[in-house]
Amino acid sequence: MTQPKTRIDWEHLASRLSPRHQAFIDGRWVDAASGKTFDCLSPIDGRVLAHVAECGSEDIDRAVRAARRAFDKGDWSQARPAARKKVLVRFAELINQHADELALLESLDMGKPISDALNVDVAASVRCMSWTGEAIDKVYGEVAATGPDELGLVTREPLGVVGAIVPWNFPMLMASWKIAPALAMGNSVVLKPSEKSPLSALRLAELAIEAGIPEGVFNVVPGFGRGAGEPLAMHMDVDGLVFTGSTAVGKHLMVCAGMSNMKRAYMECGGKSPNIVFADAPDLEQAARAAAVGIFYNQGEVCTAASRLLVQRSVKDEFVAMVAKFGAEMQPRHPLDPGAPMGAMVDEAQTRRVLDYIAKGQAEGGRVVIGGERLQTVDGGCYIAPTIFDDVAHGHTIAREEIFGPVLSVIGFDDEAEALAIANDSEYGLAAGVFTSDISRAHRVARKLRAGSVWVNYWDGGDMTAPFGGYKQSGNGRDKSLHAFDKYTEVKATWINLAP
Ligand code: NAD
Repeated sequence: MTQPKTRIDWEHLASRLSPRHQAFIDGRWVDAASGKTFDCLSPIDGRVLAHVAECGSEDIDRAVRAARRAFDKGDWSQARPAARKKVLVRFAELINQHADELALLESLDMGKPISDALNVDVAASVRCMSWTGEAIDKVYGEVAATGPDELGLVTREPLGVVGAIVPWNFPMLMASWKIAPALAMGNSVVLKPSEKSPLSALRLAELAIEAGIPEGVFNVVPGFGRGAGEPLAMHMDVDGLVFTGSTAVGKHLMVCAGMSNMKRAYMECGGKSPNIVFADAPDLEQAARAAAVGIFYNQGEVCTAASRLLVQRSVKDEFVAMVAKFGAEMQPRHPLDPGAPMGAMVDEAQTRRVLDYIAKGQAEGGRVVIGGERLQTVDGGCYIAPTIFDDVAHGHTIAREEIFGPVLSVIGFDDEAEALAIANDSEYGLAAGVFTSDISRAHRVARKLRAGSVWVNYWDGGDMTAPFGGYKQSGNGRDKSLHAFDKYTEVKATWINLAP
C-alpha cells in the first residue's frame, strides 16, 4: 500500500509532469494542421500547463477518416466480444496504475481537490471501463416471437464512427462514460475534450494504445467548441454524436446532427436539481450535511448539484442553520491539499459568471446566509466561498438558471403538493432528492418527480449498475449500465424464411 501523500508530495509530482499537448490521430501525436495552439491554464495560479494543439475542421476530418478506416478494417469492430473485453479491462488496469498522474492532471487543469480527483474521478473511470468491458460478452441478441415458418433475429451492430464532445467538470469521467460503451460495442471514436481541460483525455489516448486498442480506433482532438466541436457535429461521415455539456450547446448540436447526415445524437445536459426536505426527515442533521455536500462538492460544478433546497417551513430556520454550519466548513483550499473540501473554480470566466449570479441573487431579494464573495489567495487563483441564499422566491433567477458554482438557493414550502409543484417547475429534469421517514410519501414523491435520478434520504447515490441521464432539457439517452449500449448500436432485424 502506498503512503497517503501530502501537499508537498503532490507538488513534487506536479513539478515533474510533462503533459501531452498534441492531437492524437490514427495512433500518432500530431500538431494541428494550422500549427495553432492554445494555452492550457491552471485555475490554481494561472500558470500555463501546456500549449495544446488547437484542432480545426481539417484535423477533425483527418481523425474521422482514420476512425472510418479502422472501423472498416475490422480489427476492433469485428473482434470477438471476449477479445474487446480483455483490452478494455487492461485499459482500466492501466488507468488505475497511472491514478496519481491522471488525478494530478485533472486537479491542475480544472481545479478540483486532488483527493476527489483520485478517489472519485479516477476511481469511477476505472470502474466504468472495467464494468463495461466485463459486460461486453454477456450481452445477447433476441429471437423474435414468430410462428414456425420464419425466424426473426434481433441483433446489435456498432454505429461506426462516434464523435464524443465532453465538458470540463469531470473531464476524464465524462469521457469514460462515452468511450467505454462506444468502444465496447465495436465503434471507432473521435473525442473532443473541453478546451478548459484537455490534458487527461490526451493521456488516456496513450494508455488506450498501450492496452491494445488498434490505431485509429480512438482519436483525441483538442480544440474549441466552434472550431473543433462543430465540424465534428456536422461531419457527414460521423454516425453518432454523443455530448455532455450545457443545454444551449446540446440543443445546437441536435440541429447540427439533423442538418448534416441525421447522425444519431444523444445529449446529456444541465440541471437545476431540487432537494426536498420534509420535517419528518429521519435525521435532519444528516440531511443537512447531504444538502451542503450536494451543492458544494466539486465547487458546485456538478450537473446534478443540489442547487435548489426545498425545505418544509416548520423546520426551515433550524435546517438552514445546520446547512450553513456544514457549508462554512467546506471553504476552498489549495486543490493539492489532500484535505481540501473544495478547490478552485475552473477558470476566470466561470468565476465571473458565478459572481454575477450572486449579485443577481442579492438584487432580486435573496438573503446571503454565508459566503457571497470571491476569496483572495496568495497564488491568485479562482476561489469562491460556499454561498447560501435564503428567502429565495421560486421565480428568482438563481432559483431557475443553472449557476454551476457553489451557490445554494433555499425555498420554503408548506406541503407535499407545493413541494412537487416547485420541484417540477423547471426546464431541467436531471436529478432530485427527497428526505422523509414516510415510506409511502417517499415512493409517491419519487414517482411524481420529473427527473432521471431520484435519491431518497441521501444525495448522489448510484454506480455503473444503473442508467444516468435527464428528463426534459437535461438531455436524452442514458449513460452507464447496459442501457448505455443503446446509444452506440443500431438494432437490426434479420428475417429468415423457414417455409419448406
Ligand atoms: P459547454 O456546453 O460549454 O461545453 C461542453 C463541450 O461542448 C466542450 O467540449 C465545448 O468545447 C463544446 N462546445 C461548445 N460549444 C460548441 C459548439 N458550438 N459546437 C460544438 N461543440 C461545442 O459545457 P461546459 O461548460 O463544458 O460544461 C458544463 C455543462 O455541462 C453544465 O451545463 C453541466 O450541467 C453539464 N453537464 C452535464 C452532465 C450530464 O451528465 N447531464 C454531466 C456533466 C456536465
